[in-house]
Amino acid sequence: MFHSIRYKFVITIIISILISSGSVFFLAINEHENLYRKSVEQNLDAMASNIADNLLSTLSEEPDPFSIITELIGLDRYEHIKFVNVFDADWNLIHYYVHPNYLNLENFSPELTSISPQDLPPDVTITDEGLAVSKTIGEEKFPVGHLLVVQDYQRPLNESKNSLFFSAIPLVMLVVVLAMMISFWIYQRLFEPLLSLTKFTKKVESTTDYDLKYRVSGNDEVSELGRNINKLLGTINAEIKTNQLNTEKLIEQQNSMQHLANYDTLTGLPNRMFFMELLRLELARSQRENEDLAIMFFDVDGFKGVNDTLGHETGDLLLKAVASKVKSFLRPGDILARLGGDEFLIMIPNLSSSLLAVNIANRIIEGLMTPFEINSWDIQTGVSIGIAKATDAEFDINTFISNADIAMYASKEKGKGSYTVFHKKMLEENRRKVQIANLITNAIAKNEFEIHYQLKISSKGFVTGLEALLRWNNDELGSISPGEFIPIAEQSGKVKSITRWLVERVFKDMNVLEKMVEQNLVVSLNISSHDLQDRSFIHFIKKNLNLYQVNIQNIQFEMTESSYLENFDSANDFFNNIRQMGGSIALDDFGTGYSSLSYLTKIQIDTLKIDRMFVMQHDSSGKDTVVLQTILDLGHRLGLQICSEGVETAEQANYLISNGSDEMQGYYFAKPLPLAKLPEAIEKAQKLYQELYYGQRQ
Ligand code: C2E
Ligand code: CA
Ligand code: CA
Repeated sequence: MFHSIRYKFVITIIISILISSGSVFFLAINEHENLYRKSVEQNLDAMASNIADNLLSTLSEEPDPFSIITELIGLDRYEHIKFVNVFDADWNLIHYYVHPNYLNLENFSPELTSISPQDLPPDVTITDEGLAVSKTIGEEKFPVGHLLVVQDYQRPLNESKNSLFFSAIPLVMLVVVLAMMISFWIYQRLFEPLLSLTKFTKKVESTTDYDLKYRVSGNDEVSELGRNINKLLGTINAEIKTNQLNTEKLIEQQNSMQHLANYDTLTGLPNRMFFMELLRLELARSQRENEDLAIMFFDVDGFKGVNDTLGHETGDLLLKAVASKVKSFLRPGDILARLGGDEFLIMIPNLSSSLLAVNIANRIIEGLMTPFEINSWDIQTGVSIGIAKATDAEFDINTFISNADIAMYASKEKGKGSYTVFHKKMLEENRRKVQIANLITNAIAKNEFEIHYQLKISSKGFVTGLEALLRWNNDELGSISPGEFIPIAEQSGKVKSITRWLVERVFKDMNVLEKMVEQNLVVSLNISSHDLQDRSFIHFIKKNLNLYQVNIQNIQFEMTESSYLENFDSANDFFNNIRQMGGSIALDDFGTGYSSLSYLTKIQIDTLKIDRMFVMQHDSSGKDTVVLQTILDLGHRLGLQICSEGVETAEQANYLISNGSDEMQGYYFAKPLPLAKLPEAIEKAQKLYQELYYGQRQ
């Protein structure tokens, strides 16, 4: 309160009013005193002169005390005359007068007065007794006597001052009150706008509504202040609004950053990082609550092929379509995430029984059997699913994911569109896989690989081809089939060195092999899609063709249709090169991979190798015979050579020859054999041909 301007103002006004009225009052009294003294002096002087004049006649004659007394008694009228002394010409006191008002002056004795009249100046003088004046009675030069008149001064002055004081004080008070009222009124006028401005700013502070405006009227400083406050509020408001907008934008950006960081942009599904975070939390929760939880790993079969043959845009649309379809089979709490590429993971919390996960897997597999229609293509895909349970992994996240991965690979080995629930035995199998992968590294150095060749007989009965097939005999694991170790070599990135070893070995054998048959011989080598990623592979081939003086026309490369289509661009490049040099290409295991045949017109091949599945089933089902016949027709119409694999019986051989298969390969004629045993096998195979119906006709 004491700090407020109001208080200070009031105090200042009161003090200044009091000081100014006090000083005016003081000056007035002072002036009054001066005036009073002057008038009293004049009166006293005149009166003293009068008395002196009146006493002149009395004293010039024989002094008559009575007439002096009479003269002096007249002074009773002047209440403030204290006393009068009358002297003769020689300053001897001859008479004195004391006013009755002062008779009570204790022991008044005119002789004892401290005034020495002969020393007084001619004018009225202030002395201890009061105002004193001394007058000469008679002529100055011939005085007849002297007179001393003393008048009381202080008492009447005080009385006069008092009376002035008491008469003036009500007026002064009135003036002070009036002044205060006026100043209070001015204060009201001055401070009212300031107070309302203060009230206004308090309101702004409490409501934080910066849209409020102070109503300004007038042009004084307070109005100016009000105007400035309004401007300030306007600026603050604008600033707050831009800040709000910026904050909103920031939050939006933060959200989208968070979304970008946690979600896959293509499918909108959680990404790997986010999924792992969710999984970690869910694992901890499930373990605490004694619940089980499952994850499913899957990738889209043949996705790479779709990407390569139909373009990335179609591939992206396929992934989106697969994601939304798979999502439709999940329960509300299940989480589908895209790990990258065509790999997906599903989290199934609250797993009451394994059957739940199996049911979901079945629904997904069945659901994806219907082809997707994308960019007017009918795309047939499928998924291989690996299922793992948290309890089997003892709630360890890495083991959990790895188990699902192992189960997915098991599904892939089973063939498309299947699921596998992880079980502990798989770890054993996986351990063998890891062991094989480790052993491959040294197998080449230790010369553990061997090549067996399998004959291909033409429909005319000549041995026209040999397929090189790898054999591996390991000290620890014994004989390991290529069907087992090739996929492991592919997964562990070791197939490239195996292929190089194979190429070199076969080229080295070429000279001997060619001499075994009379006809032009084509030796085929199986290559994997991984070999195509190695850009120097083609140079390696050229170098070795040169080194071993091999004619590339005698060399054929075999690649499965799935490998080809999943690496469409690089395969096309590589095979183009080989064909331009004069070599040939065979599409292996034809009929097992893709239902769409449209790609056949786009690829660089010379030979179709019909998978042994069609050859073997040919007797058992009429339908399969139709398929086999169709493939043979199709191959011919496309101008391709046809080689049938897995020919095990004379009956199959007869059928194939009569239906236009150009070459046959299978146990009926010969099993894959080491080079040394080939001459004998060739002879035997030709004999077997002779025994055929066609052979007899030749
Ligand atoms: P593939 O290329 O389809 O080879 C033919 C497979 O069928 C060979 O199995 C062969 O022994 C077998 N086979 C031949 N005739 C018959 C028959 O009448 N009946 C039956 N049931 N089977 C027959 P193999 O040698 O075990 O090879 C398996 C697969 O391993 C090959 O299939 C091929 O994909 C792969 N492979 C073998 N050697 C190599 C290689 O050097 N490099 C690559 N990348 N893969 C190879
Ligand atoms: Ca082959
Ligand atoms: Ca084959």
